[in-house]
This record gives sequence, structure tokens and C-alpha cells, in this order.
Amino acid sequence: MSAAILDGKKLAAQMRAEIAAGVAALKAEKGVTPGLAVILVGENPASVSYVTAKGKACREAGMLSREIRFPVDIPESRLIETIEALNADPAIHGILVQLPLPKGFSEKKVIDAIAPEKDVDGFTPVNVGKMLIGDDCFLPCTPHGIVKLIEVTGMDIQGKHAVVIGRSNIVGKPVAVLLSRKGRSANATVTLCHTGTPDLSVYTKTADIVVVAAGRPHTLTGDMLKPGAVVIDVGVNRVPDATKPKGYRLCGDADYESCAEVASAITPVPGGVGPMTITMLLWNTLESARRG
Ligand code: NAD
Repeated sequence: MSAAILDGKKLAAQMRAEIAAGVAALKAEKGVTPGLAVILVGENPASVSYVTAKGKACREAGMLSREIRFPVDIPESRLIETIEALNADPAIHGILVQLPLPKGFSEKKVIDAIAPEKDVDGFTPVNVGKMLIGDDCFLPCTPHGIVKLIEVTGMDIQGKHAVVIGRSNIVGKPVAVLLSRKGRSANATVTLCHTGTPDLSVYTKTADIVVVAAGRPHTLTGDMLKPGAVVIDVGVNRVPDATKPKGYRLCGDADYESCAEVASAITPVPGGVGPMTITMLLWNTLESARRG
């Protein structure tokens, strides 16, 4: 079997065109331009490239993008004051603090400072709690994008066995919640695996859907899969590669070649989950601006 490629770039382009149309309509009808503020502390190369990509996507959709960069030694209190000012700024509908923050910052304190109604990343305790109990809220972008990608396969998720590898607050745990809740594109039986799971393949071999978000290359290999499974590879790992101009290449957490032999569909890295994460961020920002 050779898996179909779940093309995140293509789906993202379709959705971004819809979002851009929504932005234009909101401007025309209410004179409101959705605004997203992205805060970056320090110069972590991966974070710099994510922030740049978010700003570009925002402008391409016709939104206002405000990028705020701070040096690594900025006091935490100053960062929190900046967030509080953005909370009160009517031109800003979404606030995102690029994670991870440098050592010494309390991510919890900083995220807690974001007003839940502008928390377009869906990371504040209020939005996480609402997601858990099924209330209307901003869904976290990467998990929401993952569900959209699974929908592309046409698979009815209801009643399927989904295995999620990784239990982070930003990917693994929310993916498990979204796939197991009642409703459309959900209602799966979910197994959440992590570093305490002795043998991943015991679970993955019976999975119809495997979402791997471990942050380690080769966490999932083809021999761990049931034939026909859908594989969503969230990992973004930089692997040294002297043949590449930057000296590294990106790879996911799944061994692409062996998994593609067995799976029915698989996301590539790059070009799978990544473009969907930014798309769902734009989606949430537009939604926030519509709410006013
Ligand atoms: P994290 O380090 O916070 O969490 C990783 C989780 O994987 C942990 O809960 C750990 O228990 C589990 N894990 C690690 N090794 C394991 C193993 N061998 N077996 C079972 N479980 C294992 O990472 P994260 O923030 O959830 O991100 C995971 C990956 O996804 C990273 O590569 C990250 O760069 C990537 N990511 C991509 C996007 C995107 O938009 N494409 C967004 C967020 C994260």
C-alpha cells in the first residue's frame, strides 16, 4: 500500500482563501479589520521563523499583524504589562505569545495574563476548561488543524480507535480531548500514550488513526501500524544534513517511508500539520473580530 499524502498546504490554502473572504466581508460590513498581536521574547531560530510566518499569513489574509519583539532579558512584569495593554486595545482581537519562552519566565503566569476572549491560541485555563466541558471556545490551533486534516481523508472518526502519542498541553492532551468528545469529527475511542507507555506498538497496532506528537524522529515506524491507518505526524525535528544549505533538514516523528507503505493516508513534514496550525490561528482571530 502507498499512502495518500494529506496535503496540509493545499487544505490551508483553501481555508485561507475563505478566511480572507471573511476578513474582506467584515471590513466592508462593519469596518472592522481583525488584528493579531504576536509577542516574541528572545531569538530562538525556530520561534523567529514561526513568528515571521504568522505575520506574513496574517497580512496575506488582509488582517492587521502587530509583531512585538523583546530581548531575552526583558523583565517578566514588562511582558505582562504589554499583554494587559493589548487586552485593552480595540484594534487587537488576538494575542499570541510565542512559546517556549526563554528560561526564567513563567509561561503559566504569562499565558494567564492573556484575556480569554483574545486567546486565539486557546491556551488559557478558561479556554482549556471550556474545551474540556464542550463549551464554545477558541480551540487550540494545532489540535484543531489535525482534526481538519483527518476530515480530508473522508474517514468517519466516530467509533474508530485513535492513538495519540504525546501528552503535552498544546498538542497531545487537547487532540485526545477533541477526538473523544461527542459530536461531528469526533466520538473516537482514544488511547493517550506517553513516555510512561512501555510498548507503543501494543496500542498503535490496533489504531485506525495515529497522531504522533513526541518531538522525536522515528517514534513511529511502519511495523507499528495496522494496515490502512491514518497517520498524522505533528513532529518538527531539525536533523543535521550537510547537503542542505542551512545544514539541517526537517523531519517528523514518523518514519515517513515505512509508515507510508502501511498507512492509507499520512501527513508529510514539512507541509502537513504546520500550515494548518497557522490557518486555525487566522480562523480564531477572524472569529474573535466577528464577536467584537
Ligand atoms: P513536548 O515535548 O511538550 O511533548 C512531547 C510528548 O511526547 C511528551 O508528553 C512525552 O511524554 C511524549 N513522548 C516523547 N517521547 C516519547 C516516546 N518515545 N514514546 C511515547 N511518548 C513520548 O512536545 P509538543 O510541544 O507536544 O510537540 C511535539 C512535537 O510536535 C515537536 O516536534 C514539536 O516541534 C511539534 N509541534 C509541531 C507543531 C506544528 O504546528 N507542526 C505545533 C506544535 C508542536
